[in-house]
Amino acid sequence: MLEKLQRTFTSLLPVEEGRGGECNGCGDCCKLPIRCTFLNTDSQGNNTCGIYRFRPPNCRKFPRSPAQLETVKENCGFNFNTSETFSKNAKIIPIQIKNK
Ligand code: SF4
Repeated sequence: MLEKLQRTFTSLLPVEEGRGGECNGCGDCCKLPIRCTFLNTDSQGNNTCGIYRFRPPNCRKFPRSPAQLETVKENCGFNFNTSETFSKNAKIIPIQIKNK
């Protein structure tokens, strides 16, 4: 519940740099910490938001930071290319410089 309050109070801040990917509709962020009453799931498991056009900023911007993404990282379609993750995933590619 503390995370939900924190998300609400920080929802007017901009989305942190480095976010990529897109929402795949998994609905995991709509269940933090309990299932939202506006989340509708059909018989095939597809999720829709009952107030999508009017959803609040904490839903619009989710995940706003790498810390928020951490809570749904199993299924969320977003990612953050932070310098930390970049350096972890970076490969050193040798280059050859030819002298003329
Ligand atoms: S957890 Fe990520 S992919 Fe899933 S509904 Fe929320 S924003 Fe979309």
